[in-house]
Amino acid sequence: MRMVDLIEKKRDGGTLTQEEIKFIIDNYTNGSIPDYQMSAFTMAVFFKGMTDLESTYLAMAMLESGDSMDLSSIEGIKVDKHSTGGVGDKASLVIGPLVASLGIKFAKMSGRGLGHTGGTLDKLESVPGLSISKTNEQFLEQVRNIGLAIVGQTGNLTPADKKLYALRDVTATVDSIPLIASSIMSKKLASGADVICLDVKVGSGAFMKNVEDATHLAELMCAIGRNCGRKMTAILTDMDEPLGCAVGNSLEVIEAINTLKGHGPEDLKHECLEVASYLVYDAGKASSLEEAYKLLEGQIDNGEALEKLAEMFECQGGSKEYVYNTDLFQKAKNVIPVLAKESGCVSKINALEIGLSSMILGGGRETMDDTIDPAVGIVLNKKTGSMVEKGEPLAYVYSNGKNEEECVNRVLNAFTISNDVVDKKIILKVIR
Ligand code: URA
Repeated sequence: MRMVDLIEKKRDGGTLTQEEIKFIIDNYTNGSIPDYQMSAFTMAVFFKGMTDLESTYLAMAMLESGDSMDLSSIEGIKVDKHSTGGVGDKASLVIGPLVASLGIKFAKMSGRGLGHTGGTLDKLESVPGLSISKTNEQFLEQVRNIGLAIVGQTGNLTPADKKLYALRDVTATVDSIPLIASSIMSKKLASGADVICLDVKVGSGAFMKNVEDATHLAELMCAIGRNCGRKMTAILTDMDEPLGCAVGNSLEVIEAINTLKGHGPEDLKHECLEVASYLVYDAGKASSLEEAYKLLEGQIDNGEALEKLAEMFECQGGSKEYVYNTDLFQKAKNVIPVLAKESGCVSKINALEIGLSSMILGGGRETMDDTIDPAVGIVLNKKTGSMVEKGEPLAYVYSNGKNEEECVNRVLNAFTISNDVVDKKIILKVIR
């Protein structure tokens, strides 16, 4: 087999076999296929696409390029969720404790933030002392003991995806649906859970800008998961405005804690309960989705989900006290209100701009080497659909001085205020 022939086949719209896809991935991972040939191949995929079966073979080949987590030593059904990335997305910190508090094992490997989207690991590291680095054995042990772990990737999972993602990033081939689906699903399959719920973000702050593309991506990821024996759900959720109100690392952890205490923002709470309901139902802990939703609401009311998060903090080297008393989190020096210049209804909040504003304050990374200031960020005081009076705060900027003025202006300009009353939905579609 020769790589040049396979590039030509895809360039001309052909369908590759499993053997051909495996040849490409194995030889790219071991260095026999150079970057320039792989770049030509990914560009051919970008333009010609792949069938669902080709995408499944690609995900499987990437999965087989490295180790997989073996969760079989943990009793019961193991569940996982994955978000395609958005602004203010702290849902894993709410969903994990919620489902684990019902005795369902939640074993999650998360990522770091890059650009305008935050990463769960960076958020968790805003809890002093908390570590996201665990060996495989420590990770398994924690899931066995408390039913919940959210850590960085352990072992050598999907090395092909790491290499390919870095290449796609610099060859304008990231936003190809078969490449995104196989990249995400290779990692999800390698993490070993039986039940997976995907949160596919749609809107200005997300990879997928419209429901049609997001539906295609979600259906493809579900097909890949099902072809590999997993129970799959994908939920399309709105990312035209940030999720919840807080954007920034410790601010988001505090909002997740408040949500588990029963006073989080409505959109965040509803999205978390909805995603968690599918996990609970598919894990066989409820006989309907409605029952699962009610059970989960009960776990907020009785404080057990909050206690589960506290246990996770402690198991990973942090202190439970941060859950009980969020005033202990490091504070930003300045809290600056961003005041509305006119009265009306908030018709849009540009999520991308809010994410970038938090990043320039020091809350996110432009490159992987940047360090993060855990205390800075933005807290929205008005969400889409809220009425606002001229001079009222639209948001608060939490700053330690870096790019403060630019950030305040960007946050102000991220809001659109109009005379129309706008109604917003967080859950756009469910794919089963
Ligand atoms: N996230 C991933 O893990 N891979 C992609 O290709 C895009 C988003």
